[in-house]
Amino acid sequence: MKVLTAIGNRPQFVKAAAVSRPLRAVHKEIIVHTGQHFDDDLSAVFFAELGLPAPDWELEIALGSNTSQTARMLATLEPVIAEVEPDVVLVYGDTNSTLAGALAGAQAGVPVAHVEAGMRSFDRTMPEELNRVLVDHASSLLLCSSQAAAVNLRREGVTGLIEVVGDVMVDVAMMVQPRARARTEVLDDYDVRTGEFALATAHRAGNVDDPPRLSELVELLLAVPVPVVLPLHPRTGERLRVSGLIERLQRADHVRLAPPLGYLEFTTLLCHARAVLTDSGGVQKEAYLAGTPCITLRPSTEWTETLEHGWNVLVDLDRAAMLAALRRRAPLERRPLYGDGRAAERAVAALTLHLG
Ligand code: UDP
Repeated sequence: MKVLTAIGNRPQFVKAAAVSRPLRAVHKEIIVHTGQHFDDDLSAVFFAELGLPAPDWELEIALGSNTSQTARMLATLEPVIAEVEPDVVLVYGDTNSTLAGALAGAQAGVPVAHVEAGMRSFDRTMPEELNRVLVDHASSLLLCSSQAAAVNLRREGVTGLIEVVGDVMVDVAMMVQPRARARTEVLDDYDVRTGEFALATAHRAGNVDDPPRLSELVELLLAVPVPVVLPLHPRTGERLRVSGLIERLQRADHVRLAPPLGYLEFTTLLCHARAVLTDSGGVQKEAYLAGTPCITLRPSTEWTETLEHGWNVLVDLDRAAMLAALRRRAPLERRPLYGDGRAAERAVAALTLHLG
């Protein structure tokens, strides 16, 4: 079977790295990189570090609004799909690249398989939520991270086949976290000690594109009572520089600004932090796996299981709520919510069984 994998941004490189190896053991994979994330530290470093084979096609479509980016991706993907003639188009997560890949595949009459199907924050103002819903309804095979995701899909009456395979990001995290736990060099680089600092990431449009929200985000980070390592996503870095708010962070002794980090370095900080403050989807899940309490800088999350089990708290940008969350003790129990680290194998088995 010929599988066209359409990917374009950081979390998708992590997820595709998990699936690519078992997939290539039995099928032919063609990787199309849309170019949504093009900086080396958001893209090339993940291919190198996680052993993801180099893309066969690079579409170089970045920048612009969600609509214009998705439209250009669709127009560029159409002839690529016609030339490759895949048996399946495989997409991951919830970005413009996911939507364009799924729609271009479905419109070409090629079955689409969606990894991380059925996740819902139930907040349609998030561009990612709109993408998730649309992609799931265009897909023939819906590969879910959890039972809750499968329930969401059944409730929505999707027409594709639903399979709970577990979460492929967990496969990668379970492989890398023991190695990360044993390292501490990166902690010295940022002058922080195990259990005594917070790791923070923020790049959602809702937090960084709107100047008053960005300012609230900065105030929240300035109010954290422990050292904060803050690897800046390029979008956030740019917004902070344009607004001048970056100087407030640079002047704060407890804030350690960093460039976007490689996966192993980032995971090392995640495993050793007292808490993670984030608006990322993937990081919420990885924090749960690492046993690091998560404070989510959003009003909603699609990773609802982490909330129910007490490892994650939604604080949006409320400083008092963030401080209260930091004071909370971590729960004693941590169940395997998103599979056992073998989701990629199951995803490939499902592809072979249902679409092969
Ligand atoms: N990540 C990384 N370096 C960083 C920040 C994040 O390697 O400086 C990894 C993180 O471990 C996770 C993924 O990037 O696997 C999450 O990406 P992002 O937050 O961009 O995407 P989201 O999950 O929010 O869609």
